[in-house]
Amino acid sequence: MSKNKKYELDHVDIVTTHLCNNNCLFCIDKFVNTNKEIISIDKIENFLKKLKKYTDKKLTVLLLGGEPTTLPFDTLVDISNLVHKYDYRLIMSTNGKLKNKILKLIPYFESIQVTVNSDEEIDFYRDHPDKINIKIAGDKNLTMDKFNHFIEYTKDFDRRSLSMYFDTNFNELCEDEEIWNLLNKLEWKEVGSYLYTFYKGVRIKRCIVGKTNIVDEPTIPKLYPNGNYNKTWDNEDMDDYLV
Ligand code: SF4
Repeated sequence: MSKNKKYELDHVDIVTTHLCNNNCLFCIDKFVNTNKEIISIDKIENFLKKLKKYTDKKLTVLLLGGEPTTLPFDTLVDISNLVHKYDYRLIMSTNGKLKNKILKLIPYFESIQVTVNSDEEIDFYRDHPDKINIKIAGDKNLTMDKFNHFIEYTKDFDRRSLSMYFDTNFNELCEDEEIWNLLNKLEWKEVGSYLYTFYKGVRIKRCIVGKTNIVDEPTIPKLYPNGNYNKTWDNEDMDDYLV
């Protein structure tokens, strides 16, 4: 790959920690709960400085994990202040377990994607339809009835998502025939190492067999808790390996 080649970036990921308060069978973070490191503010600032030199675009910074809400509240507020100082947008993807903490964090984020498991959890966020990106899991419990109910029940939210989950061998967890009949009829767009489409206002994401890999996303720069950057971002100033 040429040293001069520049990727068109619109967002970057920060893997804040590999700690998580959940234990999903389909977890593809291979360091989950084995590595206890938490990203430091200095490492984030160093990363943001490099990004400013790389592009003058207003980027979106996505906080991921592990589970980002396991970070102390004050640390997440500090990250928000820092990211906004660099005039970037801040979003987060969370498993939704720490509901009260998530509610308190809403003012500090442009958007928070929360996985919900019940109507009660959806109702909990109903006063924040512009800030909460409400997400349902495409796992073994997903059926067409459940998806149709989700579409109806969340229609006042601005952003709604379905993520199709898979195991480390890329076997999809959802076994519902009707769901797959629907998904296979839709047109998909490849972005990074995932496929995306919309159905009735819900953004759907699914993996690409053999390509999707949270640890080595081919086009989106990721900062890891240890301060290293995604190895595939072609910039000689960047660290090259996740160790
Ligand atoms: S919530 Fe996410 S990081 Fe935590 S175990 Fe589940 S998939 Fe892994």
